[in-house]
Amino acid sequence: LNSFKIQITVRSLSYSALSPEQSLLSDQAKDVAHRAYAPYSHFRVGTAVALINGTIVTGSNQENAAYPSGMCAERVALYAVGAQYSGVTIKALAIFSLNNSATDHIISPCGACRQVMLQSERRQLSPIEIMLCGPDSVLILDSAECLLPLPFP
Ligand SMILES: [Zn+2]
Repeated sequence: LNSFKIQITVRSLSYSALSPEQSLLSDQAKDVAHRAYAPYSHFRVGTAVALINGTIVTGSNQENAAYPSGMCAERVALYAVGAQYSGVTIKALAIFSLNNSATDHIISPCGACRQVMLQSERRQLSPIEIMLCGPDSVLILDSAECLLPLPFP
C-alpha cells in the first residue's frame, strides 16, 4: 500500500489566551473588515498582517460589478505588503469575517489566497503564523504550509 498521512497541528485559543501581539492583530483584522466593499456577496472579511519591523498592514475584500475583478482581503493585504514593504519578513496574518456570527464558522481562506500566502512564506524562507479568528476563539496554524499541503508548483 503506497500511501502517506498528512498531519497539521491547529491550536484553538480563546481571545483571552492570545499574546498581546496576537490580540492586536486580531483586533486590526476585525476593524478592517468593516471597510470591506462587498455589495454582492455581503461577506465582509478583514486581514491584518504583522511584519517583523512592527508594522501592521491591513486589507479587506473589495468586490466589483465585474466579479472576477474583485479581490479577497488576504490578497489585498499581502499584495499591499509586497508593494509597500517588499523584502520585509511577515510574522503573522490574522483573518476575520463579520459573517462569522451568522454562520458560526471560523473563516478559512480560499484556495487562491492559500497559494499566495504559501508563496509569501517561501519567498521569505520563514513561516507565517496564520490566525483564523472566529466569534469566540482563534485557530492558530504555525505556517501557511498547513493550509495547503501538496502545493503548486
Ligand atoms: Zn481568498
